[in-house]
Amino acid sequence: MIRTGIFFYYQQGERLRDFPRALEGILERENVFLYDAFYPLKAPSSFDLKPISAEILHQVHAPEMVEEVKRTGNYEGALFSASATVRAAEKIWTQEIDNAFVFTGYGDHHAGTDFFGGGCYFNGAALAMRELRKTFGAKRFAIIDTDAHHGDGSWEIFENNSDVLYVCFCPHPSSEKNNNINIQVPPRATDEGYLELVRRGFSSRIEGFRPEALFWNWGYDGTKGEYGDVGLTPDFHVLLAKELKAAAEKISQGRLIVVLCGGSRRDLARALIPRITDVLAGE
Ligand SMILES: [Zn+2]
Ligand SMILES: [Zn+2]
Repeated sequence: MIRTGIFFYYQQGERLRDFPRALEGILERENVFLYDAFYPLKAPSSFDLKPISAEILHQVHAPEMVEEVKRTGNYEGALFSASATVRAAEKIWTQEIDNAFVFTGYGDHHAGTDFFGGGCYFNGAALAMRELRKTFGAKRFAIIDTDAHHGDGSWEIFENNSDVLYVCFCPHPSSEKNNNINIQVPPRATDEGYLELVRRGFSSRIEGFRPEALFWNWGYDGTKGEYGDVGLTPDFHVLLAKELKAAAEKISQGRLIVVLCGGSRRDLARALIPRITDVLAGE
């Protein structure tokens, strides 16, 4: 039976206000495990999700940048967002779980080695890969980025690392550099058209690349009515989750880490996240 970890920490803000409550019926399953952290309201003893150290942060991000993030007032949220991704990866490697959904308050893909922006401060996937390399000797990873915007931070971090296949789907023209691949999404896409782009641009590539784990930078900001609207329906995300889960089972021992990225609507979060976690934890 597949074991799914849900990584959640308390945060303010509208979009995730219904969680973790909205995962009712999923969290109770015997193959689903909730790892949470509550700050700063609860006692430290309730922190199951431990923050990563400055030492780990500095393996990806410049110390001056980390100091700059501290001055934004969002450091704690950013730290726990990235920590959740790192802990999810560790628990997958130690076989406590098989796949994971990470609720982040602040995403990954606009955070580079010495810059940040667009609601991203630290690059959780990049940090997780460093940790997996150091602790477990893992080597090859693939990231699919289906947030509506270009992942400039991830692109910069991985462009000189051929052991990471980074495939970004966004409005930028298609390009390729050292296993960094950009795939252009048209301004008006259909669910089936986008899925076909994923099959050709990502699923077929990982067959040859053989990554040890898949990371999915999942944004729903490309959904109709969202701020990055490219015409996708809510169902698209569930179909993509099924596609990627199947790909992970075929290629990377089922290791799939879904990292929540862009999207602002609370109703869409409420509608989509339970369905995606249901796919992760399903047979
Ligand atoms: Zn891109
Ligand atoms: Zn975005």
